[in-house]
Amino acid sequence: MKQLIEAIKSIKEGNLEPIKLKAQAETAELIEAINEMLTAVSQRLKEKETRLDEQVFGLYVLNYAVKIIGSSLKTKELLNICLETFIDIGKVKGGSIGLIDQQGRLKIKVKENAPEIEKEIIKKVIKESEPFMGDINGNVLLCLPLMGREEIVGVVSLYDRLDKQGFSQEDINVISTLTTQVGVSIENARLYEELARWNKQLERKVAERTKELKEANEELKKMDKIKSDFLSMVAHELRTPLTSIKAFTELLLSKPDREVEARLRYLGIIHSECNRLTRLINNVLDLSKIEAGKVEWNIQLVSIAEIVNTSLATTHKLIEDSGLEIEAQIEDNLSLVLADKDRLIQVMTNLIGNAVKFTEKGGRIDVRVKKKTRPTKCIQVSVSDTGIGIRKKDLDKVFQRFKQVGDGMTNRPEGTGLGLSICKEIIEHHKGKIWVESKLKKGSTFHFNLPIEDK
Ligand code: ADP
Repeated sequence: MKQLIEAIKSIKEGNLEPIKLKAQAETAELIEAINEMLTAVSQRLKEKETRLDEQVFGLYVLNYAVKIIGSSLKTKELLNICLETFIDIGKVKGGSIGLIDQQGRLKIKVKENAPEIEKEIIKKVIKESEPFMGDINGNVLLCLPLMGREEIVGVVSLYDRLDKQGFSQEDINVISTLTTQVGVSIENARLYEELARWNKQLERKVAERTKELKEANEELKKMDKIKSDFLSMVAHELRTPLTSIKAFTELLLSKPDREVEARLRYLGIIHSECNRLTRLINNVLDLSKIEAGKVEWNIQLVSIAEIVNTSLATTHKLIEDSGLEIEAQIEDNLSLVLADKDRLIQVMTNLIGNAVKFTEKGGRIDVRVKKKTRPTKCIQVSVSDTGIGIRKKDLDKVFQRFKQVGDGMTNRPEGTGLGLSICKEIIEHHKGKIWVESKLKKGSTFHFNLPIEDK
């Protein structure tokens, strides 16, 4: 009995081992009952302990999951944290995480103490979205799919379990809980990165557009300035003949009985100034119509030779009256060009008219038409004269509006300074080029070319 009391005291102190005592029948029965109770109690205790262990482990995993969810939104950093977590929770030596790219290929992104894994295994995990457990060089390998919200985003592989035992279903369940969190977090990180990329692209596009708008605005301002400069130039040019007309009509009105000769002279000046005004207004209207795109171009296949001959016929009398000689050399078999015939005649008569205007009696004019192949296939027309020529510094100015270069004395009053601007607009509309070569007192050559359509 004494021994039995000692054994019960030991139970009180936590010893759940069965009592081993030899006793008489009745006491033995009591001991057996106590022992059965001890076995039941110790079993229940063990169960409680296991459940507690599981709960602690669950909390442990949860803690990691929270850490992952709250961790970096940069994929690379996130993957490093995830791999560390998996290695820790999976109790393995190493592992890797691969992500599926937009083409559906898996690329290993982070790796630690892990061997190459067969592509077939990876393919199987991706295809079935199910964990795979296998063997590499005698070590256990566990591959699990990383699931995003709707689809698989990657694969995590864990290798070489520290206790050298395989993964139990329970282990796989715990690790799988974490893979869902990881998958969603990776998806978030990728979305975030994509968003950031889009944002950057958007910022770049906005900057580009702003720059373009700024440039367009500058261009508009420039155009606006050109327009108002043009307007004031027109006003100025109109004022000159008008002032003259006003002055001579006032002279006539103030003394109507002036001698006939003087009156006729005044009327002659008024008449020529009126003609100048008409020409000026016509030229201004023509130029602004071309610039505003309001001209209807009658584009068709035309023969430059024919255009040149028509222009020569039109200006023939003018040339003869000016005491000038003219010669034209037109190459045979020239290709036709796509152009507005009347507008090209306008260019030709203008160039010939200028050559006549700026060449003294006895001089000569040469017109040449030839085919060129360089830099591109085109027909080149040149009008040369032996006239007053143009200073080198003025060569570019002659195509500007209202620009009359030279020394004023030799320039005839009938000029408007708009003829060459109009020629330039017409030639450029045909995708051609117009330019001048000249030597003061030796003469000038105006060239223009027109592209030939390749068949
Ligand atoms: P304009 O009506 O004054 O001739 P253009 O625009 O045709 O206007 O010519 C502009 C200026 O270019 C002329 O005023 C003149 O100073 C110069 N120019 C044009 N053609 C010739 C030429 N063949 N020889 C010398 N100067 C020329």
